[in-house]
Amino acid sequence: MPNDAVNAKLRADLRGQLFEPSDAGYADARQLYNAMIDKRPHMIARCADVADVITAVNFGRENDLLIAVRGGGHSGPGLGSCNDGLVIDLSAMKGVRIDPAARTVRVLAGCTQGDVDHATHAFGLAVPAGIVSTTGISGLTLGGGHGYLSRKHGLTIDNLLEADVVLADGSFVTASSTQNADLFWALRGGGGNFGVVTSFLFRAHPVRMVYAGPIFWEIKHARQVMQWYRDFLPTAREELCSFLGLKAVPSTDPFPREIWGKKIVTLISCYNGTAEDGEEAMRPIRKELPASILDWVGPMPFPAIQSLFDPLLPKGLQWYWKGAFIKSLPDAAIHVHLENAAKSPTELSVVHLYPLDGAVQRVPRNATAWGTRDATWSMVIAGIDPDPKKAPILRTWGRSYWEAVQPYSADGGYVNFMMDDEGEAHLRASYGGNFERLAALKAKYDPTNLFRCNQNIRPRC
Ligand SMILES: Cc1cc2nc3c(=O)[nH]c(=O)nc-3n(C[C@H](O)[C@H](O)[C@H](O)COP(=O)(O)OP(=O)(O)OC[C@H]3O[C@@H](n4cnc5c(N)ncnc54)[C@H](O)[C@@H]3O)c2cc1C
Repeated sequence: MPNDAVNAKLRADLRGQLFEPSDAGYADARQLYNAMIDKRPHMIARCADVADVITAVNFGRENDLLIAVRGGGHSGPGLGSCNDGLVIDLSAMKGVRIDPAARTVRVLAGCTQGDVDHATHAFGLAVPAGIVSTTGISGLTLGGGHGYLSRKHGLTIDNLLEADVVLADGSFVTASSTQNADLFWALRGGGGNFGVVTSFLFRAHPVRMVYAGPIFWEIKHARQVMQWYRDFLPTAREELCSFLGLKAVPSTDPFPREIWGKKIVTLISCYNGTAEDGEEAMRPIRKELPASILDWVGPMPFPAIQSLFDPLLPKGLQWYWKGAFIKSLPDAAIHVHLENAAKSPTELSVVHLYPLDGAVQRVPRNATAWGTRDATWSMVIAGIDPDPKKAPILRTWGRSYWEAVQPYSADGGYVNFMMDDEGEAHLRASYGGNFERLAALKAKYDPTNLFRCNQNIRPRC
């Protein structure tokens, strides 16, 4: 560990803040979104700008410190922090600049999903990304990124045009299709393995008002809803994204008291277009399925659907999650889902199936590092609860559910829906035929594996 004088030099060199365990802000600064993870870094460098990031990377490398890079701190296994090492915290690096004529958006690395949606909405634009406003745009993008606009416009990485990166040797580069193209390829799905991204340039799309919201059915209709949804999705217009959830009605306002805590199956939808077109696109859902117990789909500004879940999912809950890619949903798989969802340990625990068809599938498998372009859904099984004592049952349920549906899942999974107990074979399978190229590029850009607090791809020399 560096001594006090060395730490003091770092403190003086940073324009941002340095938090050490003795500092008043340290306890807050080390908190992660997932309260199941409790890491105590040696120091947290909350960078103010790119110069600070360069300083911090050089400091970490020269002092042989374990380095973790933190964007929004939403990683399930808490990969934005580490024990004993240096956290390079980008959360203060905020800023979104829109070029309305070019329809591009420059996003600094500390922005959340909500920061980006807020800024782009004023211009009638949006970047295809996630569905919860507090998620960090950095980690989400580097792992791939999917959300309501993905069926029509692809993953977040499919809309990435350029990234500024501080490499392991402290040098600064820009990666795009014309500059450091191999690095640009690796960044699009390869996670935080290749350097610290300080800003992203995205393509944006016209999005203003959407026709969106949840529809709930009693759980006794779950089999029928799942079978119907499986057949409906490929026929649905790509402007419509409906994801399926198995969960319980939250026992809180504004949900009707008489259904609090009831197990349900839900389709949560977002149609990018007019209310009339959205209603038309969703007509089959309302016409061909049994009567719902709640239908809150209606016109709203895009940032409203993007922050719909925020009040239910504040920072500080216990999370254990596992993900998988699903290519098809045979009746036998639905049966296993229903059996396991029925054992859900807490009211907040969920299973979601997010569509990955349409534009996501039209990108060739080796065009970006993201290895699975033939899945229909990205599934997440998330055990969630405020009570730390529930952590063991969240884990047990998540693991056994995930194992039960493995026979119906593709190899590997979405790196952003993995914990840290998956193993290298699983990670390798997630990248499929792209893994060897990623390992070779890791050797080129980070030969000593300085950036290893992530779903780590070890350098292949
Ligand atoms: C409530 C919730 C909702 C979610 N919804 C979605 C969704 O709709 N769609 C989706 O695709 N995913 C979703 N996710 C998953 C999300 O993409 C991951 O949790 C992602 O890691 C979050 O990024 P972050 O910057 O907040 O995380 P962090 O914990 O800060 O970082 C995650 C990883 O990325 C690395 N990293 C972060 N920033 C940088 C950077 N600038 N340079 C280099 N490496 C960096 C970190 O080192 C770490 O390995 C959701 C997660 C949660 C908790």
